[in-house]
Amino acid sequence: MPVNKKISFSVLCAFLTIGAVMFVHNFLTPMQMLEELPYSEFKTLLANGNVAEVTVTRQSLLGKLKPEEGSKEPKLFTTVRVEDPDLVKELNVRNVKFTGMIESTFLRDIMWWVIPALIFGGIWFFVIRRLGQGLGQGQKGFMTVGKSKAKIYAEKDTKVTFADVAGVEEAKEELGEVIDFLKTPEKFTRLGGKIPKGILLVGPPGTGKTLLARAVAGEAGVTFFSISGSEFVEMFVGVGASRVRDLFEQAKIKAPCIIFIDELDAIGKARGAGPMAHEEREQTLNQLLVEMDGFDPRIGVILMAATNRPEILDPALLRPGRFDRQVLVDRADKIGRLAILRVHAKQVVLGPDADLEVIAAMTPGFSGADLANIINEATLLTVRRNKEQVGHSELQEAVERVVAGLEKKSRVLNKMEKERVAYHEVGHALVALSFPGSDPIQKISIIPRGIAALGYTLQLPTEDRFLMAKTELENKIAVLLGGRNAEELIFGEASTGAQNDLVRATDIAKSMIKSYGMSEKLGTVTFDRERQPLLMQIQAPLEKGDYSEETAREIDCEVRRIIDEQYDRVKWLLAEQKRALIEGAKVLLDREVISGSELKAIMDKH
Ligand code: ADP
Ligand code: ZN
Repeated sequence: MPVNKKISFSVLCAFLTIGAVMFVHNFLTPMQMLEELPYSEFKTLLANGNVAEVTVTRQSLLGKLKPEEGSKEPKLFTTVRVEDPDLVKELNVRNVKFTGMIESTFLRDIMWWVIPALIFGGIWFFVIRRLGQGLGQGQKGFMTVGKSKAKIYAEKDTKVTFADVAGVEEAKEELGEVIDFLKTPEKFTRLGGKIPKGILLVGPPGTGKTLLARAVAGEAGVTFFSISGSEFVEMFVGVGASRVRDLFEQAKIKAPCIIFIDELDAIGKARGAGPMAHEEREQTLNQLLVEMDGFDPRIGVILMAATNRPEILDPALLRPGRFDRQVLVDRADKIGRLAILRVHAKQVVLGPDADLEVIAAMTPGFSGADLANIINEATLLTVRRNKEQVGHSELQEAVERVVAGLEKKSRVLNKMEKERVAYHEVGHALVALSFPGSDPIQKISIIPRGIAALGYTLQLPTEDRFLMAKTELENKIAVLLGGRNAEELIFGEASTGAQNDLVRATDIAKSMIKSYGMSEKLGTVTFDRERQPLLMQIQAPLEKGDYSEETAREIDCEVRRIIDEQYDRVKWLLAEQKRALIEGAKVLLDREVISGSELKAIMDKH
């Protein structure tokens, strides 16, 4: 609870307590001693000469009875005043001392009005507090909607350093200057160096952009403010903008520091893009631009942001003086992957047989987060198997898990489906084994994994590829078509299981024609100008391709031709190996998993 609320809360408590005490004192205490009598009884007592004294107020009579025998204390009584014109006469006759009194109702009025008001106030206070929390703004109440304190994560002593980030050497090099600047901003300004202001980290998810930004703060020893772009944009118009203002205010106080905005594209989408302009986002973006222009980097505040979709950012964000520096954080190559694996393996005990180099070779295209996940999965497996050290088999299984999602043995396929999947997968594998130069088959499995894959053939490249010959691409298409072809050969018809294979095969064929000029008919021409690196052409509408419709038709025909050719080739090949296909599928159905070499043995036998 914030301090000011704590104070107002205790003040409220005090008021309530005082009020309650006064209430009890004023009303309850005298009443315990007063006996309330019906008017008729009072009249009887008066007639019998038992009344000693009476005080007449507007609404009631308060009085004292004569003490009874044996007791000295006179009894007090009260009775409601009834319209009785003879009362005074009678009091005179009985020789009762009487006085009139105008009752002060001041205190009672206060009680009547103030206590309920206080109670209502208290309830209101709590309800509003609850409401504020219900709006999803962490601890902040309704009244402080614009304050972003709860959402900004400020890390004072970041322990992350460049040693924790691997495989992104170029990015680290580029950020070295920023660290220098944050360490000694004065030196920089004195020498007139160009001071960085906004740095945009661009790269696919999980490649370590956040980690890198945090490491810059750690290396420079400055505070690290981070906030996610999607958290800026709230349901109330204007909230995001006030959060931006708040963020910069706090950062200026804490300078030197780094402000890191994750998912910049959530606020930075080009204005007016999309079917409906989002007013809240636009206001937030405008405020961000204003703040960026308004602050002087010489105070030692560096703005960093991350995005994996730089092409949709508003160009205004990328102008000089804003995010004018872009640092590419890409997926690592084999050496980089090995380095990342080593960083994460430091926290576990590896067995003597664990070979991270093999794992790095198996995982082209994996991001840093995926690799961290592999080490984590392998550790979990080790624990589950009651082993002391993470062995190679655990690492390998972890790769498979990360590749294809978690094993889901529970998903049940009926017998027919299972058979289909088995023939389908063996079809892929046989084609791959038949063509020299295909990526080696590691294993074939019909244990369903993840959501989409019913079975899979694990075919992992042994190295990163930057160049592929035409035949290699054709072989890839053939392998992809192998599954569907095997189904047709055995069951006489295709199933829906091959959809993803067909998509991928078609994509390869398309790029062969459109990008790589591999069609004799269309000539060595590329129709697919590669989009310019990252940020240059944001405003240009996405070109549909600058070729005629005639050419488009020809491209389609050529794609068809490539696929058809491969289809025929695979059909012929599988027909020839039908017996190997049947035997392989039988073994697979029986055991659910077979290795590539086992299938190769079956193939060679026939
Ligand atoms: P991004 O911000 O690019 O989406 P993160 O920085 O959040 O990615 O990375 C998520 C996690 O993955 C990190 O906390 C770290 O454990 C791991 N990771 C990602 N990239 C690397 C890398 N280059 N070196 C070491 N670990 C990495
Ligand atoms: Zn398939």
